[in-house]
Amino acid sequence: MLKDNYGKDLSAIKQKKLFLLDMDGTLYLGEQLFEGAREFLKALKDKGASYVFVTNNSSRSVKAYLEKLDRIGLKGEKKESFYTSTEALVSCLKASFTDPLVYAQGTKAFTTELARHFRVTEEFNREANVIAVGFDTELTFEKMQNTCRMIDTGIPYYATNPDWVCPTENGFVPDCGSMCYSYEKATGRAPIFIGKPRPLMIEAVLGKFGINKDDAVIIGDRLYTDILSGINAGVDTICVLSGESSAEDVESSENKPTYTINHIKDLLKILT
Ligand SMILES: [Mg+2]
Repeated sequence: MLKDNYGKDLSAIKQKKLFLLDMDGTLYLGEQLFEGAREFLKALKDKGASYVFVTNNSSRSVKAYLEKLDRIGLKGEKKESFYTSTEALVSCLKASFTDPLVYAQGTKAFTTELARHFRVTEEFNREANVIAVGFDTELTFEKMQNTCRMIDTGIPYYATNPDWVCPTENGFVPDCGSMCYSYEKATGRAPIFIGKPRPLMIEAVLGKFGINKDDAVIIGDRLYTDILSGINAGVDTICVLSGESSAEDVESSENKPTYTINHIKDLLKILT
């Protein structure tokens, strides 16, 4: 019997039909693919399980992720295997609005994706029905001004992900959560966040694949996003200690994963 770091039997993982995978810190770190990551994905394919790369990052397109995975040695992945907070936002907006005019603030990749589904404006527009903010690595003061004016109109306000910071090669930079916090200080309004740890994104993925929550498992390295999203959505979780969280973090956190393992490669033995 294979056990996790706390002696818990891992054999239930074998029965899971859908694996929701975090990427950075789980399958790779920066540009470095983890040992066993490729074999892990192959083992899932071989046993007929599905997997989806779930990311809160709304600044990059799926194409950019495909290029990255290809570059670090995960070749031949399909765009259908990705689920971004932008896709989850599109799904939520479709469920709540009919033919809305969306005021969108984000990167070119973000606004282009929204424009595939909705009428979009990037300027202040009194006709807009809803505000959609993404992690904007192309932010300007003019965009901030437009967004605050839009928020002041009182129309529904969504944002892709509540992350405070995004790690980069040069340290942390403000992510979508921090940007929206500055708008909250300016306008008094906070958005409805879509991405992890909110359950909306996980529920949207399960809906897309037609999978019950009991048949899914979330694997990630962050307790307050990956693991908490599973807790909030009622889906089993595996915390890998190869990224942001240490064993001490798991022990002191209120957000306890269902299982804790050191490394994605520890699951290979279960699957093969
Ligand atoms: Mg991660």
